[in-house]
Amino acid sequence: ANYVVKNQNKFLEVGLLVDSDYYATDGFHLSGIDERVKHRPWYSDDQKTGDIFLSDFYRSNSTQKWCVALVTKLALPGKNNVRIIIELDAGAMSDDLSGLKTMKKGYVYAIEPKTKRVVIHPDKERLGVDSVSINSELLTTIMAGDGHGNIPSYQYDGQYKFSVYDTSNNFNWVLLSGTNNSEITANALKMGAVGGTLLAVVFFILLAGYLHTRVHQVGGQLIEAQEFDELHEQLSALLNDTMGSSRVYLFVMNANEGGLEEAYHNLRANVPADLLCRIAGCQQLGRFCKPEQDDIVRRIAPSEPCIRLPLVNSARQHENPHTASQLIGVLYICQPGLAYPFFAKMIANYTLSALNQILLTQHIRSEDQMTGLKNKNSLRQHMDQKLADSTTGYFLAMIDVDDFKSVNDTYGHLLGDEVILNIASQMKHSFPAQAVLCRYGGEEFAVLMEAPDTETALKILDDFRAKVEASRIEVNEATSCAITVSIGFAPLRKGMESTISSADRALYQAKSQGKNQVLSAEMCSVGTETAAVTA
Ligand code: GH3
Ligand code: MG
Ligand code: MG
Repeated sequence: ANYVVKNQNKFLEVGLLVDSDYYATDGFHLSGIDERVKHRPWYSDDQKTGDIFLSDFYRSNSTQKWCVALVTKLALPGKNNVRIIIELDAGAMSDDLSGLKTMKKGYVYAIEPKTKRVVIHPDKERLGVDSVSINSELLTTIMAGDGHGNIPSYQYDGQYKFSVYDTSNNFNWVLLSGTNNSEITANALKMGAVGGTLLAVVFFILLAGYLHTRVHQVGGQLIEAQEFDELHEQLSALLNDTMGSSRVYLFVMNANEGGLEEAYHNLRANVPADLLCRIAGCQQLGRFCKPEQDDIVRRIAPSEPCIRLPLVNSARQHENPHTASQLIGVLYICQPGLAYPFFAKMIANYTLSALNQILLTQHIRSEDQMTGLKNKNSLRQHMDQKLADSTTGYFLAMIDVDDFKSVNDTYGHLLGDEVILNIASQMKHSFPAQAVLCRYGGEEFAVLMEAPDTETALKILDDFRAKVEASRIEVNEATSCAITVSIGFAPLRKGMESTISSADRALYQAKSQGKNQVLSAEMCSVGTETAAVTA
């Protein structure tokens, strides 16, 4: 017994009572105590031989520690009252149970129902103190009713707590396990995998609904954009809002020069024809495009995800069965937070409509209604662009119909109109495909074209002049009318105004020299130029 008590701290004392003698560990011995012993908390008159008796909770006399005692009554021949007492340290038992945790902040404790005192508690200060979680009324209910249940909410140490209890144990104690309400609430909200997935699905449905509405709301506004910059800004806002993208690039096909142009960041790319075909035919909308697949992606998003959406006007079969679908632009969405083909398709459709709208507006604004040639504004824009790029080898020619007033006066304005249309049509057939053909106003036209040198430009222009001279406009069955034009031209250099006035000066000189001829500004000497102007 000495060995056990020394080496296991939950045993305070082991004793042997034989009638009026008490022997205990550590050499303790009392004799003649048969009357006194009956007042010890571990002594029960009712205990039968062979039974194990558990004492009430008491403070040990020798150690001043809270304890309980287990007592066995033995039958020995010639002795009346023989008992073995094992005194157990409540504090040490609490230590053993302190490893049992209720969640993270809670703990296990025990109450002796008879006295309502705390018998097990990780905080030893609490041993022997009246319980706060169970009042007498509740305790009576617990002892009379079920062996287990819960105590929903009580305050202790400034916090609201929750405990569950169980009375089915050998000691007949109320064992409790509790923690703060806050911890239980937090854990109740934590969901398992299934709950999480369900929540994600619900979230996705809500998000999809939101995005759907947003795309339709803002998408409708896109169509109202008048300029590329405006469209770019609205698209950026929409894509940032719905797909979480940080950057967008809207490239537009330049029908004349064959490349893709981006107005907002001022980018241009000459995309090979086979790539354009692949972009146009790409059915997998909303997929990420790799830098090695597309030169533009390599430039704008070399190391981040990028979605490429082709903007294609589908062929209208009934109008012209031979026209293929036409790629009018490509939308690149960089670093999208989420990418769903469904939204990509919606966004591509709205952008396509908006882009068509802008291109149509631009077309109307830049075109001469009567002839279908470009107008003066458009010519200026083209010249601006060429000058900004410092491109060389371009010439501007000003073309004026000779004695047009007398055509009007002689044959009437309707025939005059026919002459203008005829000149426009001949221009379309006489100049290189890339040339900008323009009706400058009235019976005056302009051509901005590329030529390797002045001689070649002169040749092209003079061929046109000769064609006009050779053509006839029918007045009626018997009569036709001949028309001639005078042309002055100058290389596109320095400023736009100076180029126009140089070409104009050459034109006036051609008029003053007898009309129906082509003159280069470079061929006009200063002297004759002055003479022409004064004449
Ligand atoms: P020049 O050889 O010096 O160029 O003489 P011109 O008669 O051609 O030049 P002028 O500027 O004196 O006359 C141009 C005329 O063109 C005057 C105007 O009424 C006519 N005109 C301008 N636009 C149109 C048009 O759209 N239709 C018709 N029928 N006539 C037009
Ligand atoms: Mg004129
Ligand atoms: Mg004229």
